[in-house]
Amino acid sequence: MKRDDLTTLSGVLPDARDAEAVILRVVPLGESDLLVDYLDSEGRRASAVARGARRSRRRFAGCLQPFARVRLKLGRRRRGSQGLGRLEEATLLRGHVAIGKNLRAYSQGCYLLELVAAFVPEGDPHPSFWSLLRDVLEILDNRPLNDVEMAYLRLRVLDAAGLAPHLDGCSACGAEDSARWWPEQGATGFVCERCGGSGRMWMGRRGLDMLRRLAARKMPRGTDPKETERLNEILSWMLGQHAGRQFKSEAFLRSTRE
Ligand SMILES: [Zn+2]
Repeated sequence: MKRDDLTTLSGVLPDARDAEAVILRVVPLGESDLLVDYLDSEGRRASAVARGARRSRRRFAGCLQPFARVRLKLGRRRRGSQGLGRLEEATLLRGHVAIGKNLRAYSQGCYLLELVAAFVPEGDPHPSFWSLLRDVLEILDNRPLNDVEMAYLRLRVLDAAGLAPHLDGCSACGAEDSARWWPEQGATGFVCERCGGSGRMWMGRRGLDMLRRLAARKMPRGTDPKETERLNEILSWMLGQHAGRQFKSEAFLRSTRE
């Protein structure tokens, strides 16, 4: 066998593997296949094609649904297939079907899946996203998140993406205290009153205190619904700024708010 043949062969050798994963999205592909977008337990986002899955659901019974935690058997990947692996089999670990029965939990779940898809590029592993996704889906399977938990979720997504805002004072002058704080343009921190914060999006002293406690993974002292709402609005805006777009599921999320 010539050297060239070996090189060619290495591109099509099986690299079949098993992976635990959460299904993010499932879309029809042609007449009989499904394209499955998932995040695996190493925090790697990828897509795979489930051949024939639209015709016969037996091999993938109940597995290929968003929110499902599954064990995937992935087939070999061909050179030049642009990262599209082949999904041979799937076994259900946790269906998380109760999420779909509570509209609020469902809208929060859709939002989370959209955030993961937006902030985890295909390829590089982002392990923090895996634990976040796995843990939050377990909660949503039992109940929706409250507003403080939503703020925590948004902050954790920013943090996992390496985009957590600086919370050590004013980004412009370094002041540690201010009655109001505005997110600065780049969405990487906050500016104080004196540094020319403007616009309707701001939070009070208690908002920043709450954010600092959440960043330290502590529950805020007491809760102030108005401050929590402002904080969520700011974090949601920051996520949109970093992603370069607003999220489709935001409107759905707002519509399910009591
Ligand atoms: Zn300042």
